[in-house]
Amino acid sequence: MQTSVDTLVVGGGVVGTSIAYGLARAGERVVLLDEGDDAYRAARGNFGLVWVQGKGLGNPDYARWTRRAATAWDRFAGLLMEDTGVDVELRQIGGMTMALDEDELVRKAADLGALRASLGGDYPFEILDGSAVRRLIPQAGPEVLGAVFCPEDGHVSPLRLLRALLEGFRRNGGALAAGSRVRHIEPSGGGFLAHLVGGGTHAAARIVLAAGLGNRELAPMVGLSAPVVPNRGQILVSERLRPFLSHPTLYVRQTGEGVVQIGDSKEDVGFDDTTSIDQLSRIADRAVRCFPLLSQVNVVRSWGALRVMTPDGFPIYQASTAFPGAFVVTCHSGITLAPVHAHALTSWMRGGPEPDEIRPFKAERFNA
Ligand SMILES: Cc1cc2nc3c(=O)[nH]c(=O)nc-3n(C[C@H](O)[C@H](O)[C@H](O)COP(=O)(O)OP(=O)(O)OC[C@H]3O[C@@H](n4cnc5c(N)ncnc54)[C@H](O)[C@@H]3O)c2cc1C
Repeated sequence: MQTSVDTLVVGGGVVGTSIAYGLARAGERVVLLDEGDDAYRAARGNFGLVWVQGKGLGNPDYARWTRRAATAWDRFAGLLMEDTGVDVELRQIGGMTMALDEDELVRKAADLGALRASLGGDYPFEILDGSAVRRLIPQAGPEVLGAVFCPEDGHVSPLRLLRALLEGFRRNGGALAAGSRVRHIEPSGGGFLAHLVGGGTHAAARIVLAAGLGNRELAPMVGLSAPVVPNRGQILVSERLRPFLSHPTLYVRQTGEGVVQIGDSKEDVGFDDTTSIDQLSRIADRAVRCFPLLSQVNVVRSWGALRVMTPDGFPIYQASTAFPGAFVVTCHSGITLAPVHAHALTSWMRGGPEPDEIRPFKAERFNA
């Protein structure tokens, strides 16, 4: 048995590390338990977008939560830099979703118009025609008929972000227990014991389940529920190119090092995180139509990774009523939401008011 701490966070993906960092920064004693390299880890295979446009269609609370996170990103990146010296390469000068046919553009404009109306008009986006897109990105090809532009969109390096969160967590006194897979959680004496596969137990007054797809199994142990399933995305990575893509787009972005990341698919294939030629060719074909210069570059890597999806695609943020002190958090936009996970969410977990935007995101909505 280890010494009891204030909080155990289960899951060292971007969601768990954001929460662990926020709690440690607030002065809590926190242990972060992470299964390790054999686990499915969306946080290590994602696309790195801080993305607002389209988020919350049919769900204004989610749109508000996403915007709250996006507008906090600049300060959050600064804080991580101050705490750790790690530059997470935030570039947030607006992002685009390219349209290759007229119908696609009309549909996207209608969706965002509906979203804007559901938010009482407070939702920034613009529809650009093809020449406006090419003025901003001269390398956009002639097939690009237009784009949706949202000034709050941006991107970061997801791996640098994970490094910064872990480093910030450690520097604020947090302890990472890597290779620690939680097998069983036992509510005990008003707190929690987390028993590990292979032996060992950690104790705390509070436990936060942020184990991605692992939450499905763990949540019922503390009176919660997380009916999440995997959804695969595939990504291609090019050799380094001179900078040509000033703004991230939904499917193509150029990183600070110059490589171009191209993604992504949405596939229901269970726990299969391999890649497939048909999806990779589809992804590559669309990217070349948007940016013809990509037809001449070498692809150096590709991978598949599993998203953590609830049945309606929206998050679950829930405190256990049966076992006070236990929380479950699951979402599929952990990069975008990192600033609110580290701050607004952790302040709720520590006894502050529940943020208004997350009140509707309880697992009971799936019981109907
Ligand atoms: C292809 C792809 C593209 C994406 N693009 C974006 C994007 O552009 N922008 C964005 O905001 N989001 C994006 N995401 C989503 C983002 O990556 C996820 O929101 C996020 O990674 C989910 O994070 P997580 O920490 O919940 O889960 P994960 O990253 O899967 O981490 C879960 C962690 O829990 C640990 N774990 C599991 N079970 C246990 C257990 N029993 N005990 C201990 N530890 C356990 C695992 O070791 C793992 O490290 C993308 C995801 C994918 C797959």
